[in-house]
Amino acid sequence: MEKVTEIFASNVFNDDVMRKMLSKEVYDALQWTTKHGHRLDISIANEIASAMKEWAIEKGATHYTHWFQPMTGITAEKHDSFISPSGEGKIIMDFSGKELIKGESDASSFPNGGLRATFEARGYTAWDPTSYAFIKDGVLCIPTAFCSFGGQALDKKTPLLRSMEAINRQAMRVLKLFGSDASSVKTTVGPEQEYFLIPKELFDKRKDLIYTGRTLFGAMPSKGQELDDHYFGSIKPRVHAFMKDLDKELWKLGVYAKTEHNEAAPAQHELAPIFTTANIAVDHNQLTMEMMQKIAREHDLECLLHEKPFEGVSGSGKHNNWSITTDTGVNLLNPGETPHENAQFLLFLCAVIKAVHEYQGLLRISIASAGNDHRLGASEAPPAIVSMFLGDELTAILDAIETGTSYSTKEKENLKVGVHTLPRFPKDTTDRNRTSPFAFTGNKFEFRMLGASQSVSDSNIVINTAVAESLRQFADRLENATDFESELNLLIRETIKKHKAIIFNGNGYDDKWVNEAQNRGLKNYRTTPEAVSHYLDKENVELFTLHKVFSAEEMESRFEIMLDNYNKLINIESRTMVNMVRKDILPCVSAYSKVLADTAISKKTLSKKIDCTYEEENVNRISVLLNSANMLLEELWVAVESMKAIKDNKQRAYHCKDVILPLMAKLRDDIDELETIVSSDVWPYPSIGELLFGVR
Ligand code: ADP
Ligand code: MG
Repeated sequence: MEKVTEIFASNVFNDDVMRKMLSKEVYDALQWTTKHGHRLDISIANEIASAMKEWAIEKGATHYTHWFQPMTGITAEKHDSFISPSGEGKIIMDFSGKELIKGESDASSFPNGGLRATFEARGYTAWDPTSYAFIKDGVLCIPTAFCSFGGQALDKKTPLLRSMEAINRQAMRVLKLFGSDASSVKTTVGPEQEYFLIPKELFDKRKDLIYTGRTLFGAMPSKGQELDDHYFGSIKPRVHAFMKDLDKELWKLGVYAKTEHNEAAPAQHELAPIFTTANIAVDHNQLTMEMMQKIAREHDLECLLHEKPFEGVSGSGKHNNWSITTDTGVNLLNPGETPHENAQFLLFLCAVIKAVHEYQGLLRISIASAGNDHRLGASEAPPAIVSMFLGDELTAILDAIETGTSYSTKEKENLKVGVHTLPRFPKDTTDRNRTSPFAFTGNKFEFRMLGASQSVSDSNIVINTAVAESLRQFADRLENATDFESELNLLIRETIKKHKAIIFNGNGYDDKWVNEAQNRGLKNYRTTPEAVSHYLDKENVELFTLHKVFSAEEMESRFEIMLDNYNKLINIESRTMVNMVRKDILPCVSAYSKVLADTAISKKTLSKKIDCTYEEENVNRISVLLNSANMLLEELWVAVESMKAIKDNKQRAYHCKDVILPLMAKLRDDIDELETIVSSDVWPYPSIGELLFGVR
């Protein structure tokens, strides 16, 4: 393999390339525009486009695309070649500034939640110069934002950029009060990505995996993950070969792929990149998921990103590591060495505590999906209740500050923020709790509720904006204080008192926590329909509109899209289930019961004395299950068809949750039992055991 330092970012039109290929004037103009968010002059855009084209053609690219992130949760692209007629049947390769800056796309074909009137189908993509262009499969990809004709965001990138601006604005107000020399802050994100790898030839035999990304049936194999022998286990050669290729492709795209290991379930793995600026991390995570699926196929594997591909073993999540860093390189969630730094740290910590407490509902909503509903609270992922883990040491310090007492026997003096130096606590002692949804891990927070397939954009939009709101209120108060020090002390103390209900260092998997959380007044939105129903609650609309992250109209459209996505998914799952049961499973089971019955008859014909208990009992049990499954199948079909008559998205979602999903679960029980009886020679699908242990 070539040297990693040489291939890293070799397919990225990054700062290095721009310095080399752009005139100083154009380079400076682009930097300035990026930093201040102004419109780019067309002559400058033309020069950048021309350099990009030259660079891309040199690397073998023939097409370009505006690469964007619509509300489908994945990325979208439409390829245009660079060719342009030059007369006499000849062509030149052409790419203009206009084509770089703005693209037109049919908004009606993407989820838009009613934002696009039927008569106005146009949508626009606009270049996001803060994220580098790159080449993927011979196509120059230009990261863009996607909006409607009226300028409303139709994607997951625009609001993320707006939320980063919001937190920058408010954090800078606070930092000024501390005399910071920083001129901007950015949020940083490192998403750890879990996934499954299974043999492609087995994947291709299961309609449920092909259509829904998860197994809708499947009896548990005799071995699951109970031996804990997969986590961090040695990586099989075939998987290792996949990981090596994946790393290489990701490095070429400038993705900081760093850590790869086996996860808890058989066939489950994880990739963690080194963190980077939030919007770039979001882009990179999308690329990572796409590359995982592509490279897997090249190795005759299939990569499953579904939150719960298999019942009975752990599902896949994504940990969203998050922090705030200044342009001077200070991580604001790093406890400092001096009292001054510590006061600042504590204030930012309090901002996050307040944000998570006040907007726990929005955080829960940001990770709500049909797939994630199977994981949350299932003793493999955090519960659906949002709480925060700070670790014993930091919690003791906050308790002491709140009560104005000393936090350790050694320290007798009263704790006063800004005077007191925090003890330096080693990073790993703060992260013993793996069950917490939102954990402080030494110098960053880790939001652990995300599902594996979700865009990390949604949760970061909420975290950024909610923390921006805490900081806004803090700044309002501190800017008007007569005595900064004492007001700061009071503010921190009050915030801890008011919001400590969100802090929970215990075991989040414990049933008792559900009751305790309820007593503390914490929200428990168990499912997606329940969670999403609260999206338009007054305080949520006020938060997003105040910080100009969403307009009320954009929120209404997102509300519809979230419900619609959920409904469509359950509709696809239930129809797939009906199809599999009706066309494959029941015919197979019925035929198999005939084989058993015929065998018994033959045996009896031979001699009445022959014992046919096995055949008789199984024909009997199979017939009972067959009839039960058949009745449930019809019931499910009626429930699925009755969806059409329900026009309201929220009502539909509740119909899915309360009627369709329970019927699917019952039907599955019958079918899974049948699988344990019917000969594996005739069962129409590969078993879960084969899928989980098939890669050798
Ligand atoms: P874990 O115990 O969860 O594996 P690590 O320290 O290995 O913890 O970090 C996990 C992820 O957190 C990595 O992607 C890492 O880059 C990211 N991370 C570390 N520091 C920060 C930070 N300041 N901001 C955002 N993400 C961070
Ligand atoms: Mg982690």
